[in-house]
Amino acid sequence: MLETIDVLTLFPSMCEMITLTGVVGRGIKNGIIDFKCHQIRDFSKDKHRRVDDAPYGGGSGMIMQAEPIFLAFEHIFRLRGAKPYLIYMSAKGENLTQGLAKNLLNHKHLAILCGRYEGIDERVIETIVNKEISIGDYVVSGGELPALVLVDCIMRMMPGTLSCKSSFENESHYNGYLEHPQYTRPEIWRGKRVPEILLSGDHEKINHWKLLQSYEKTKKLRPDLLALNKI
Ligand code: SAH
Repeated sequence: MLETIDVLTLFPSMCEMITLTGVVGRGIKNGIIDFKCHQIRDFSKDKHRRVDDAPYGGGSGMIMQAEPIFLAFEHIFRLRGAKPYLIYMSAKGENLTQGLAKNLLNHKHLAILCGRYEGIDERVIETIVNKEISIGDYVVSGGELPALVLVDCIMRMMPGTLSCKSSFENESHYNGYLEHPQYTRPEIWRGKRVPEILLSGDHEKINHWKLLQSYEKTKKLRPDLLALNKI
């Protein structure tokens, strides 16, 4: 079961944001997970604390150098007394899904590497990275927001983050379907009524309705998921 998450980044304050608010912030404060951000620049041997250089073979932008990342990783290894499972947030990685996040819960210790500039030296990926994960088929300017997406997704499945297991087990994607529509007070809003069945108090019927709606929503909005579920 997951106990620690270390983030390697050039912008620790951006990643620490997640500790401040919401259910995930509360979970971290309550010690559900030991969450730490590490400044890669602290491991630069350069007198100006540089961590990037021009790409070999030409091309635009700068590349993050291998050595500061490797030293930051070694520091985490020493700090935790064991080798973490290292994820590199990368537009080239496997697309993040609920299933992938669920599997990561089985690791005791995760570390997440955030790239910047045009990315990082391939040799450090080959040497220490266990998995490259993408948050979707588009490019953002750094790995920090993708890392936060991943940490949030993992943490809300951990006991003690949400009030109960059913909070996330009934949500979109957990079982391969989208969630059914949800309603709250008032019963009539601008002439629109809450579906009558939800007021009936008949839980068996309500559950049946929810399952059906969940299927209909998936069919309408994400038919590709039904194909994956082989239904
Ligand atoms: N040149 C790279 C993109 C660099 S963007 C390429 O073409 O693949 C800078 C950093 O942002 C990357 O190193 C990565 O850590 C992060 N990043 C960008 N898009 C991402 C995505 N879709 N998923 C996860 N991380 C991403």
